[in-house]
Amino acid sequence: MSNKYEVIIGLEIHAQLATASKMFCGCNNNAEGKSPNSVACPVCMGNPGTLPVINKKALEWTYLFGLALNCEVAPQFNFERKQYFYPDLPKAYQITSQTTPPLIGGHLEIEVDGEKKNFTIEHIHLEEDAGKLIHSGGHSLVDLNRAGTPLMEIVTNPDFRSPLEAKLFMQELQRILRYLGISNADMEKGHLRCDGNISLREFGAEKFGKKVEIKNINSFSSLERALEYEIKRQGELLDSGKGEEIFQETRGWDDAKGKTISQRGKEMAHDYRYFPEPDLPPVVPAEAFDLEGLKKQIPELPSGKRKRYVEDFGIGKTEADILASNIELARFFEEAVGGQQADVVKKIANWVLGDLSGYLNDKGLGIMEIKLPPSNLRDLVLLIEKGDISGKIAKEVFVKMIEGGKSSAQIIEEEGIKQVSDTGELEKIVGDLIAGNQGQVEQYRKDVEANGNSPVLNWFVGQVMKATRGQANPSIVMEILKKLLG
Ligand SMILES: [Zn+2]
Repeated sequence: MSNKYEVIIGLEIHAQLATASKMFCGCNNNAEGKSPNSVACPVCMGNPGTLPVINKKALEWTYLFGLALNCEVAPQFNFERKQYFYPDLPKAYQITSQTTPPLIGGHLEIEVDGEKKNFTIEHIHLEEDAGKLIHSGGHSLVDLNRAGTPLMEIVTNPDFRSPLEAKLFMQELQRILRYLGISNADMEKGHLRCDGNISLREFGAEKFGKKVEIKNINSFSSLERALEYEIKRQGELLDSGKGEEIFQETRGWDDAKGKTISQRGKEMAHDYRYFPEPDLPPVVPAEAFDLEGLKKQIPELPSGKRKRYVEDFGIGKTEADILASNIELARFFEEAVGGQQADVVKKIANWVLGDLSGYLNDKGLGIMEIKLPPSNLRDLVLLIEKGDISGKIAKEVFVKMIEGGKSSAQIIEEEGIKQVSDTGELEKIVGDLIAGNQGQVEQYRKDVEANGNSPVLNWFVGQVMKATRGQANPSIVMEILKKLLG
């Protein structure tokens, strides 16, 4: 397809809030691992005569999130009924706040290919999630455990010009949700879901093309792939003069087939007949919350951490990005830093991103699942700095620190590990090696005369390491070897 089309993408993002109870009843909001329909009560099932009660925490978190995204707080909003029939919605209406949202506007700045871009939000509203249908063996089963889970919907303006921008925005949103501690935001588990609207228009054109909505996106990579697929599909239709075959419609993303499939046209769109929920009072946030106080509760967000890590700690941008991408890792790192100077901080960052992350990945663990006090990592790095242990031994000590929960000092003491930096002791070992390996000595001298250096030097270092069980200080060994080999 040609490159003459501008891509216009908007997102509708759903984030489940990780409150203790559901949106309008006292049911446990965490149904993970529980049997179907075991966490559902007459309120979430919409039995006649039941009355919903607003979960104040869910409201508070929605405002917290909106304030973090620079939204404007509406002075008042109503919960409302959105009527439609679907088997996973026994009430036959969903309680939402879509048409009178509590939060309006807002924006989020993100770096795309090294360039800062600002993406704007149309509104954020709060609603309840529906239940789930499980299709198997030719029939469908209903599970209402999810019905009534607080759900925030973030509707963006059509500001994204590439699938990558949309993906980066979603990823940053996920980080913010986790930084605020209001959602697990795991896409694979459906805590965070997203629909993408996409249309193409010729560059310079004012009018938008027909908008296609893509549903069933459950990972960041499928978001990007689904949008890429639609760009290609719509672009090819436009190129071949079949623009009228692009319909304003909903398409589902089939991840296995790697394509979008038409689900229903907009002409089938429901008339939801919204009206204010008669069983719930209007919400006046200024009366219910201390909004200024909430603003102050917003912690340092990922963008702030990335900036501070580079400016104050002097670590690289890539390292800062990775550290700030995981709030738990970032907290661990900051605690490990504990006021050390830039050179030590850089080394701590290397350990966190290298050995520590490698270990966690290998074992499939999160940082919260191991018992490593951050100060123990700092102590280990300081021991290497002082020359008490070599970097190589430190790697072994580190694994023992994680697995046994002991400090580096304890392990070194118990196992008698100590870097041998005693020059006299090392000179004796080197002297013995030289005396016993005259062939290598001659080879070394020949090489040095011809090339100025010799691979035999490393062989000698290896022998010293062997003789000291890896505990010799390598730089001192090197010095002594050069001196004695002449
Ligand atoms: Zn319930």
